[in-house]
Amino acid sequence: MARKSRRDGTESDLAKKRRARRINRLLAAAHPDAHCELDYGNPLELAVATILSAQCTDVRVNLTTPALFAKYRDAGDYAEANPEDVEEIIRPTGFYRNKARSIIGLGKALVADHDGRLPEDMDALVKLPGIGRKTANVIRGNAFGVPGITVDTHMIRITNRLGLTDGKDPVKLEFQLQRLIEPREWTMFSHRIIFHGRRVCIARKPACGACTLAPLCPSFGEGPTDPAEAAKLLKGDNVEELIRLAAAAGGGRDGLGEPAVGA
Ligand code: SF4
Repeated sequence: MARKSRRDGTESDLAKKRRARRINRLLAAAHPDAHCELDYGNPLELAVATILSAQCTDVRVNLTTPALFAKYRDAGDYAEANPEDVEEIIRPTGFYRNKARSIIGLGKALVADHDGRLPEDMDALVKLPGIGRKTANVIRGNAFGVPGITVDTHMIRITNRLGLTDGKDPVKLEFQLQRLIEPREWTMFSHRIIFHGRRVCIARKPACGACTLAPLCPSFGEGPTDPAEAAKLLKGDNVEELIRLAAAAGGGRDGLGEPAVGA
């Protein structure tokens, strides 16, 4: 009954909130080291790294930023930068002309309007070049300790699969999730979902049979449900622990002993 309501959209708001918070607790156990995977030393570096991460892996960004951060140390340096010099350094991250324009524009705006420092305020952040709500939430959550839900492609895909959100509009999803998850958990919930998306609930083929969330997920069965087959899809350095937690969670069966949706 509970799984049917998750699947057909008749789950009550209270049931969905309880399920979302249970999902968050299970993710905390599965990914205790979840964190922002971009390297940075201050709010400005995080903002620049996040701009560079568009359509690019965090690993590649982290290979690129040391040279950039060594040459441009504050907003004034970016404001006065030669675009071609910046483009040359950030070229490996793709879309480098647009990204260079955003980064230099960010430096100029910070110097002109904010004494060279990044503001904490959401309304002020989203007015800056290259910064939308996603980037603003990353900056607020990680550099300033202000809780925020980061809606990227992992968050959209996984919360859709989990039946916690519907649609693809990042702003709508952010507000849908804000109603489900405790505010103090928003930032870590975002990191955990992104970790889960990179290691378990992979876009192309989710590892459903090795997923600790299987008993709570209406999309169980979108990927292989056989534990051994699913385990081969897991990524990261704590695969053994992910397999153990998935088995302990019920191996795709809910607490009532009923087969999960799609099983
Ligand atoms: S059960 Fe499958 S679809 Fe659902 S969260 Fe886990 S890996 Fe993703």
